[in-house]
Amino acid sequence: MRRPMVAGNWKMHGSRASVGQLLDELLRSATPPEVDVAVCPVFVHLSQAISTCQGSALSVGAQDCSTHESGAYTGDVAARMLADLGCEWVILGHSERRAGHTESDGLIAQKLQAAAAAGLKPILCVGETQAEREAGRAGAVVAGQLRGALEGRDKPVGLVVAYEPVWAIGTGLTATPEQAQEMHRFIRDELAALDGLDAAATRILYGGSVKPGNAGELFGQPDIDGGLIGGASLVAADFLDIVAAAA
Ligand code: PEP
Repeated sequence: MRRPMVAGNWKMHGSRASVGQLLDELLRSATPPEVDVAVCPVFVHLSQAISTCQGSALSVGAQDCSTHESGAYTGDVAARMLADLGCEWVILGHSERRAGHTESDGLIAQKLQAAAAAGLKPILCVGETQAEREAGRAGAVVAGQLRGALEGRDKPVGLVVAYEPVWAIGTGLTATPEQAQEMHRFIRDELAALDGLDAAATRILYGGSVKPGNAGELFGQPDIDGGLIGGASLVAADFLDIVAAAA
């Protein structure tokens, strides 16, 4: 019922040469048709990625967008500009932006609305820190992030949620399949409690040190619909193995 999806978050990595090489390697292999595959390079590499991926099974997303449509916002990039370029996706609320750019749930909610208005499909990231998990607050934190971003607002068409426990991002630590499934089930229940969202049809990706060796077990859980992949998405063979595990 839900199409599996694997998206690569390339973060602030790469050059035109390395992006070209990585895309060539990815495009050389056919990805399973039943999996939606996306790559999300840094803003300045989007145009290159979009033209290289044209006509292929790979779609392209950005890693952030502005809340504004246009105007005197130096350094910002509007959702409409990304859509106009050919982006299909935009990652919003990544923990690195929540922490490094003090992005609040309210700001992320505005970005979600801007993305949806521009026709971009948002990948909304949520997840608790190690301290919050140890304090038994993981569920409350994630529920707060979901409600803060989505409650009382129009729900973006094609919304994807990514559960990314902060303690698992780039650390080599991964939630166990059971821990991840428990939180994904919880997220689905929280989504079901929001008006205007078909929770059963909404894809929930897992992110946090997903590798070829652990992807199969994670993606085999009933409420895990694929992954948002950081480090391993920069290595074509690893990313392709992870995509294969989602099929
Ligand atoms: C991420 O930052 O979205 C991520 C999941 O990173 P990694 O796979 O490197 O943990």
